[in-house]
Amino acid sequence: MSPQFIKARRRGRIAQDYCAEKVCLLCEKNFTPKVSFQKYCGDRKLKTGCAGIHYKAYKAKMRKSWRSRHPDLHRAHCRTYYENNKEKKFEYDRKWKKDNPEKVKLYSRNSISRNRVRIYHTNRQYAARRRGSQGTYTLVEWEQLKQTYDFTCPQCFRSEPEITLTRDHKIPLILGGTNQIDNIQPLCFSCNCSKGKKIWFASYPINYMKNVTAVYTG
Ligand SMILES: [Zn+2]
Ligand SMILES: [Zn+2]
Repeated sequence: MSPQFIKARRRGRIAQDYCAEKVCLLCEKNFTPKVSFQKYCGDRKLKTGCAGIHYKAYKAKMRKSWRSRHPDLHRAHCRTYYENNKEKKFEYDRKWKKDNPEKVKLYSRNSISRNRVRIYHTNRQYAARRRGSQGTYTLVEWEQLKQTYDFTCPQCFRSEPEITLTRDHKIPLILGGTNQIDNIQPLCFSCNCSKGKKIWFASYPINYMKNVTAVYTG
């Protein structure tokens, strides 16, 4: 036995002559393996036959698992790739949309129903900007604001599941109020409508006011 053969056998690589025929696990045809542990026909590295198919699927699985473990890195990578290959991406997207009109329709419908809250928020920002007001606030800031108001309307003291809180400008935009978060308060729809173009906001913390009214009513 040559030292090369021993080395090869130790690493699990035995020359073609020593490997008997095998049945491919994917296409179930006979093939002659190049390596003793080969399970699929074809060549993994040349991406031919079932070995190529299996290797591609394996790689895709590994990539997916890496993405789930490093979401931030993946996002950063995507962004840099997009910046460097904008033209290519546009071309690809245009072609894909042309080839899959049904999927485009389905995806857009799904994304609208999934992002209804965010779309509504963005539309409110656009509406404020159309009226010539300064400043914006994020959806997270709005959620936090609702939390500080204990999901309660400060005018009628009804809480969220009963009513739906809407965004109200303490100083209305028409009177020169800004669209910053400090000029926003959550009011229920009917209170917001009745307030109209007046300036009104709760001057005490909402929890304090809630307790006071509880004393009066109780
Ligand atoms: Zn095969
Ligand atoms: Zn109200």
